[in-house]
Amino acid sequence: MSRYVEEVLQKIEDKNKYEPEYLQAVEEVLKTIAPVVDKHPEYKELAILERMTEPERIITFRVPWVDDEGKIHVNRGFRVQYSGLIGPYKGGLRFDKSVNQSIMKFLGFEQIFKNALTGLPIGGAKGGSDFDPKHKSDMEIMRFCQSFMTELQRHIGPDVDVPAGDIGVGAREIGYLYGQYRRIKDRYDGGVLTGKGLEYGGSLVRTEATGYGLVYFMREMLKANGNQSLEGKTVTISGSGNVAIYACEKARMLGAKVVAMSDSNGCIYDENGIDLDIIKQIKEVERGRIKDYLNYHSAAKYIERTGEDSPIWEIKTDIALPCATQNEVTLNSAKKLVANGVIAIGEGANMPCKLEATEYFLEQGVLVAPAKAANAGGVATSAIEMSQNSMRYYLSFEQVDKMLDAIMVNIFKSTEDACKTYNLGINYVAGANIAAFTKLAKAMIAQGII
Ligand code: NDP
Repeated sequence: MSRYVEEVLQKIEDKNKYEPEYLQAVEEVLKTIAPVVDKHPEYKELAILERMTEPERIITFRVPWVDDEGKIHVNRGFRVQYSGLIGPYKGGLRFDKSVNQSIMKFLGFEQIFKNALTGLPIGGAKGGSDFDPKHKSDMEIMRFCQSFMTELQRHIGPDVDVPAGDIGVGAREIGYLYGQYRRIKDRYDGGVLTGKGLEYGGSLVRTEATGYGLVYFMREMLKANGNQSLEGKTVTISGSGNVAIYACEKARMLGAKVVAMSDSNGCIYDENGIDLDIIKQIKEVERGRIKDYLNYHSAAKYIERTGEDSPIWEIKTDIALPCATQNEVTLNSAKKLVANGVIAIGEGANMPCKLEATEYFLEQGVLVAPAKAANAGGVATSAIEMSQNSMRYYLSFEQVDKMLDAIMVNIFKSTEDACKTYNLGINYVAGANIAAFTKLAKAMIAQGII
């Protein structure tokens, strides 16, 4: 590894000791871009790595709200505006009790690379709150969103910073957030949030985009490696939220059989193939648990989660799509997947594989579609939503889907090109990092020391 990379990593570790997720994300990127850094001594003189790993701005704020019983609660809100180098800050909002500064910084850092890969003019950001939306009434969710936006609105705007959804923030939350923004600003700023409802400026395909994009990337990766396809392959997908549901839908459309899905409590296994309509009913309408699937398909199996390792990775599969959360694939799980003959991993969630799990997959010749590239379809379609808002125009489902597909094909191509240039074989993790980093470094040099 380059000495410069080592020095910077050491400094970052010293400064951010209590931020493990952030350190993990930075370590993965810096280690993989070392060959590029070695070729460009000017990066050290210009402190490119130091500047790229320090967020432009971190905003934290108090979010007070009142529950249905009249009790007052206080949560912490965050917005990490990581880099506006190539466009307005852009990235989702996460409402989950695990949210803290380390998680916000890791997600913001990864977002700048992901957004660079899309080829679109969007910078990187992330935000959210440690608010836990589970078991809250609609009115409680609305009051929380209104309080959160009352502060956030000072820091965002269609040409400044454009949030979207993430874990715990779906169409309902975006609606409440947008309503409060509009009420305070008293003007039409449709492009201030993406993932909006179709009735008030949303884009067709945005709901499906991350999951569909993941599968388009997987299709390209399989094609490039022995002209394989998803047709007839067995697939397991962790999570049962937005990304997981639409990854399942597209994988089935391309001829795969999805046999398992999960939530944070456990997973279901249906050897006949998952009934996606039932999953949508449970998760999108009833907001229930994955276990409820057994009420509709009693022959399916439910496996409760008991420890750190998710039981879903013990199920035999050709392709595994982790689409729930960070660090959900441990080394132990990776070994089980490989022992059961997995050929490809597609990261729908952000940083779902622990570093040692990714290294193990690569050592074993398993194809890995890295999150920054493979799940970029969501933010790319958000950028298409922003364009439609600026144009005061709507594109059809087919038009947006075609654009999304073309973007994913391009992302795979630039990842593959970087692998070829730096002799990285099938290490698409390094390839994607290098392709994004090269673009960001050029933009940083062009804009001077800022
Ligand atoms: P959702 O809130 O819609 O769904 C999240 C799913 O993951 C739920 O099934 C949830 O189960 C499960 N989950 C959450 N935490 C854990 C955990 N600790 N262990 C096991 N399962 C868990 O979120 P999204 O589908 O939007 O996001 C999923 C992932 O994809 C995240 O990493 C997100 O950052 C990433 N992503 C999302 C994009 C988007 O467009 N939405 C874009 C790019 C990346 P439960 O209900 O039990 O909590």
